[in-house]
Amino acid sequence: MSNPFIRKIVIVGGGTAGWMAAAPLAQRFAAAGPDRCEIVLVESPDIGSIGVGEATLPPIRAYNRTLGLDGADFVKRTQGSFKLGIEFRDWGRVGHRFFHGFGDFGPPIENRAPWQHWLRLQREVDRLPGYEDWSTSTVMAKANRFTPPEGGAPSAANAYSFAYHFDAGLYAAYLREYALQRGAQRIEGLIVDVELRPEDGFVAAVRLADGRRVDGDLFIDCSGFRALLIGGAMLSPYEDWSALLPCNSAQAVPSERVDPLTPYTTSTAKAAGWQWRIPLQHRTGNGHVYCSGFISDDEAASTLLAGLDSQALDTPRQLRFTTGRRKQGWVKNVVALGLASGFLEPLESTSIQFIMDGVGRLIQFFPDKRFKPHLAAEFNRLMAVQYESVRDFIALHYKLTERRDSELWRYCAAMPIPDTLAHQIELFRSTGRVAIYDPEGFAEPSWVSLLLGLGLQPESYDPFVDHIDAQALLQHFVRLRQAIHQTVGGMPDHGDYIARHAKAPALA
Ligand code: FAD
Repeated sequence: MSNPFIRKIVIVGGGTAGWMAAAPLAQRFAAAGPDRCEIVLVESPDIGSIGVGEATLPPIRAYNRTLGLDGADFVKRTQGSFKLGIEFRDWGRVGHRFFHGFGDFGPPIENRAPWQHWLRLQREVDRLPGYEDWSTSTVMAKANRFTPPEGGAPSAANAYSFAYHFDAGLYAAYLREYALQRGAQRIEGLIVDVELRPEDGFVAAVRLADGRRVDGDLFIDCSGFRALLIGGAMLSPYEDWSALLPCNSAQAVPSERVDPLTPYTTSTAKAAGWQWRIPLQHRTGNGHVYCSGFISDDEAASTLLAGLDSQALDTPRQLRFTTGRRKQGWVKNVVALGLASGFLEPLESTSIQFIMDGVGRLIQFFPDKRFKPHLAAEFNRLMAVQYESVRDFIALHYKLTERRDSELWRYCAAMPIPDTLAHQIELFRSTGRVAIYDPEGFAEPSWVSLLLGLGLQPESYDPFVDHIDAQALLQHFVRLRQAIHQTVGGMPDHGDYIARHAKAPALA
């Protein structure tokens, strides 16, 4: 092969996944030079994008930084707000609340995780405050405060992380502008056929309804649940995980903005699923995710509307999905990203994270025209590890429930779980330790937030923490708690911070 460089990438689909792929690829490859590669994105206005997906995880900041985006401009342009974590209501048991915050519960002490010391003190000290009091992000969220973490030595003022909430349509438009400015091209048209090379079954081109043919070397399937290339042409099987994650439907509706603007997502468990609340500058995003076997669509819509805290701005829009993933997200010269590659329901805002990690891995293992199969194998291996780890993380919310008040919760309490998740639960129950299957995924503090938050009390803890003098340890905890509360008390209100630094223009 004379020149094996990929010279043309075709991205199929212009939703969040399509533009999140186009932006970094255009940044790297579309400019004139020896690496130049055409980036062409095809999207159909007749089909449109899914239009949800508005809560994220902290690594989105690294994605933005790599693109050179300014944080405040990003928040303004997407009507965004800041996210310190997720408040869970009625999960585990009705009336119970806990918070999954971004960050740890204080610094390690003698190389042992802070919650290990808390687990010990909890047994020795009467009325010890809950572990969440040592999570800066949680204390900030409860007080509705926000300011970005400071640099410098570790302290209460930087012991947390944050992500964003944003309007999905504005986010895709923002990245589209970025990608087009850097040389990506956009074609509007409906793909009606996929042309395969007879000699090896690789995709040669996609054909549009008006007869145009778009050829390329590498095809990125961002066609959403339709999975036109990865499912339709490459026939990569879909692994259905709905026995473990039974929700298969959602109703979504925007409602009026509510003050104070909370710096967190809220997830409230319901009889047949759960409801999200995502605060944005121009509106609140809401949705009810549910299992259609346990509630009718009409009832689900009524539950959603009854759970709003402000006036609905539209009628609920229904969505269907099957939780699971493509067994292989990269087959021959097709790489699937976004919903085309799988979907695990939005409980922990992980879908956009999968897109970011997928495009990052594609760049890391970027092929040439020979498409050496080990590149695809490594990409698929890493994606499988990530999918399975996130699957367990989300399933944990359902499995560790004391609720038996509806069919869904009785089903979840009794459902079989993968060995990996059973091991995770038993490891924590018996020893207070956590297993990390995916080192790039949710870290120990996130698992601990959930395991303790859902009410699993470990029978023991790390024995090394017993070597520390109990009084000195308690003093450390008291001082740290004071420092966190004092620091948070001096932070601005989330709404005020946005008004001062990232206020979005009023929309027409
Ligand atoms: P889509 O948005 O569906 O885009 C598909 C694109 O393909 C469109 O541009 C369409 O025009 C194009 N297309 C399809 N067929 C053709 C064709 N024949 N010809 C030409 N073009 C075609 N993720 C999060 O990270 N956080 C969340 O809070 C979150 N909440 C969610 C809530 C719900 C209820 C659901 C269902 C998903 C949620 N997600 C969330 C997931 C998130 O919405 C998606 O990961 C993200 O929007 C990416 O979607 P996509 O671009 O893959 O697909």
